[in-house]
Amino acid sequence: MYVYADNAATTRTSETAINAMLPFFRETYGNASSLHTPGQRAMEALVAAREKVAAILNADPKEIYFTSGGSEADNQAIVSAARNGARRNKRHIISTAFEHHAVLHTLDKLKKEGYEIELLDVHENGVVTAEQVAAAIREDTALVTIMFANNEIGTLQPIAEIGAVCRERGVPFHCDAVQAVGHVPVDVKALNVDMLSLSAHKFHGPKGVGALYVRKGIPVVNIIEGGQQERGKRGGTENTPGIVGMAAAMEEAVGNLDKSIPYVTALRERLIEGLSQIPHSRLNGDRDRRVPGTVNFCFEGIEGESLLLLLDEKGVAASSGSACTSGSLDPSHVLLAIGLPHDVAHGSLRLSIDDENTPEEVEHILSVVPGIVEYLRDMSPIWDELQKGEKPYLL
Ligand SMILES: *Cc1c(COP(=O)(O)O)cnc(C)c1O
Repeated sequence: MYVYADNAATTRTSETAINAMLPFFRETYGNASSLHTPGQRAMEALVAAREKVAAILNADPKEIYFTSGGSEADNQAIVSAARNGARRNKRHIISTAFEHHAVLHTLDKLKKEGYEIELLDVHENGVVTAEQVAAAIREDTALVTIMFANNEIGTLQPIAEIGAVCRERGVPFHCDAVQAVGHVPVDVKALNVDMLSLSAHKFHGPKGVGALYVRKGIPVVNIIEGGQQERGKRGGTENTPGIVGMAAAMEEAVGNLDKSIPYVTALRERLIEGLSQIPHSRLNGDRDRRVPGTVNFCFEGIEGESLLLLLDEKGVAASSGSACTSGSLDPSHVLLAIGLPHDVAHGSLRLSIDDENTPEEVEHILSVVPGIVEYLRDMSPIWDELQKGEKPYLL
């Protein structure tokens, strides 16, 4: 048995998405900007996809901009708000220490340009509060950008409450909802957001396509200069197959939420229950305020990387936090943000399951993890020191 439990990194492209896309590779391959029939067919498909995506988010089609994915949507949202703020001498941006690098690295870039970036502390349970945001907002705040569901630990932020605070204070609010769309209900009006990013490959759509929702009246700046695509806000020939595939995958995932949320939550609960039996382990992030499928554990005395390699050998694809940071020796910025010491943050395991996983697969995971943890601890000098009482256990 080989279990794919890394859905927060990316998901399998669904049959629904593939079937929706195929005609746009094979037959309807025209450029949507062309005036001839093949081009106009592609344009019609784009119009329909935009309407579908907008309807699912409770937005207007004019408020949807297609992008090359979540990273580009995050970049465009943040740079747009920053430039717009600067025109009115507002250069203070509020975010959190545990955002995705698409947000944090964009903020780093703006910092070098003279913007003041304030990263809110994240509570130990992996949640920031609307009160923290309210306390941080200033006269010169140009933007608040806070993620919906954290990609490493899965915790959900009180986005509607944060949005209400921002709306009341007249500060634009962007939400990176890449880990939320297709996994929990996302309604841009109920959430009080001005901008929201999503990415198709996190909900069984194709890779390399996403969208940015921008509320009517909020100015957008180009990141990709070029032709007049996306109402002049994003140059480049539209990725018709990708966009059509994204809309189909989104419709399917969101249409299934009533069934998938309780199903995936039950699998996750079993995972948490089973992994908690391992001594000196801990679940990272709030027990309940989390997306259905993501769990993140620390096991004291071991290295996340070796755990992943052995898990792969035993038929489990998992991750140590973010796919973007594995391969680097630095511990996860997310785990450090929620206050874990360096030593412990190295030994983390992220399992992200979804409605394609089965109870048998969860049992397989639970049958292999404890043995691997024990094996690695037996070889670990740190574990040896802990066992001999030379060092106190942190977990
Ligand atoms: C995956 C992810 C992104 C980046 O999306 P891409 O489509 O891969 O560029 C951004 N934010 C979060 C929270 C993510 O999980």
